[in-house]
Amino acid sequence: SVIVVGSFNVDHVWRCAELPAVGATIAGQYATGPGGKGFNQAVAAARAGVGTAFVCALGDDAGGALARQLAAADGIGLRAEASDQPTGTAGIYVDARGRNCIVIGAGANGTLGAAHVAADPELLAGARVLLAQLESPVETIEAALALAREAGVATLLNPAPANAPSSIGLLRLADLLTPNETEFAALLNRHVGERVEAEAVAALDGASLHALCRKLLPHGSVVVTLGSVGVFVSHPDEQLRGDAQTHYRVGAESVSASDTTGAGDAFNGALAASLARAPEQPFAAHVRYANRFAALSTERAGAAAAMPRHDEVQERFGA
Ligand code: ADP
Repeated sequence: SVIVVGSFNVDHVWRCAELPAVGATIAGQYATGPGGKGFNQAVAAARAGVGTAFVCALGDDAGGALARQLAAADGIGLRAEASDQPTGTAGIYVDARGRNCIVIGAGANGTLGAAHVAADPELLAGARVLLAQLESPVETIEAALALAREAGVATLLNPAPANAPSSIGLLRLADLLTPNETEFAALLNRHVGERVEAEAVAALDGASLHALCRKLLPHGSVVVTLGSVGVFVSHPDEQLRGDAQTHYRVGAESVSASDTTGAGDAFNGALAASLARAPEQPFAAHVRYANRFAALSTERAGAAAAMPRHDEVQERFGA
């Protein structure tokens, strides 16, 4: 099974012609729904067909009730810490060109404690993969990764969002790191003094990308997601995870993408699920599955709601 440790948000989205200027009052089309990288990734893992637990913190409010209801609907084992803060929220403005401004009210997500993660030893006992992001307190994520390590559970860290605090100590606890281009550039700049522009990452040659990945995570594998370009995989020399090469690219599947919100979340949840389902398979097979799963998620609107199911992935791309 997969354990996801992370955030749940109630997203409030306003679509407007222009983003509001300072002091302006404007009209927009409103929609609300679930979000948070943790929850999105938990839904992806569950729909990929693997038993999934989601460790998070929720307020005693309508948002918390929504999380419980939606987790149950997807068969996710919810391990929610009761917070005295409101459930996490995101206020999102999107303009006609798809550009956005986002305010996150971390609320309960900001109080998720290491003690809550440690409170349930049985949680780790049956798990193969622990998946975390950086929308929760960094000490809590560190503690969760450390506990998983101790229990022999593989650790997958999606270092998102790019501006979240992180440390070399945190990275050392990850067996697998899955940054997108922006997060990759941010981590390189911050932790290994490599100045790389996010926009330049996808165009780098394989040997250069591999060298950067090795500097960033010497002991573990790095999967850089490159949006519509696909992904880049880099392994340490001594640990190829069943692959024939230390580094390679996998091209994106050609789909009619209409909304790439949550594509990264789809990729991470599906990668964790595939690793947990068939750990004996070569790593490239897991990457291929996650790449297909994420591609399908872009054909539908929304994040959690857009996650496909395992049988849909198989029908579309073959087993
Ligand atoms: P994020 O959502 O974190 O920015 P990316 O944009 O890198 O993440 O997307 C994650 C993954 O989703 C990609 O590596 C790819 O597998 C898939 N993906 C994203 N956009 C597309 C697309 N337009 N067509 C096909 N697959 C896509």
